[in-house]
Amino acid sequence: MASVLVIEDDQRIRETVARALTDAGHAVRTEGRGTDALGVVMEWCPDVVVLDLGLPDLDGVDVLRMLRSVSKVPVIVATARDDDLEIVRVLDTGADDYVIKPYSAAHLDARIRAVLRRSAAPVEAGGSAIAIGDLAVDPDRRTAILGGQPLDLSRLEFDLLAHLARRSPAVVTRRELLAEVWRQPHGGADKTIDVHLSWLRRKLGESASEPRYLHTVRGVGIKLERPAD
Ligand code: CA
Repeated sequence: MASVLVIEDDQRIRETVARALTDAGHAVRTEGRGTDALGVVMEWCPDVVVLDLGLPDLDGVDVLRMLRSVSKVPVIVATARDDDLEIVRVLDTGADDYVIKPYSAAHLDARIRAVLRRSAAPVEAGGSAIAIGDLAVDPDRRTAILGGQPLDLSRLEFDLLAHLARRSPAVVTRRELLAEVWRQPHGGADKTIDVHLSWLRRKLGESASEPRYLHTVRGVGIKLERPAD
């Protein structure tokens, strides 16, 4: 159960989503305008914000930018367009995840629970390993274990794996990887990421054509996920 602020100008969607999330046990508030929603975030401090990108008063990305300047609240963006560039832009602006409209309430609820798990995980401070399927990554000890066997990773391979593990199961953009792993916030060679990914894949015993943990989301980025099998 979480407190969820749904920012959506379409009344029908707003009511449907609010009802479904309430039925799922969440405390829900809704706002139809970006400016009003910012006030509610400050005053109510919700656990999660669901933000429609197409609002009548403000561009959704601007709302996201303003939210990020005042709050660390996890934000799930709802976008009408299955548009890779738009999705990359909102993830780079600080969205934690996204759903594409029309989305089901069950799907949104699963995303909400996933971002809450991530925001609650004390991975940075506690020194506890992040477990994803048979893979355990410990950022403090700098160890990665797959199926009980330690992986022999280079510094960059480990940093890449650890960053993807911390953000799992979110899709991480290439720009974020360049900024956070390679410390090149203004971009650099995408090729570098591809090369390290392919080495990392080999060490994880998988390939781009037969992925298990590392999945490329075309045009958006990479995600680390528990294998389906
Ligand atoms: Ca809208």
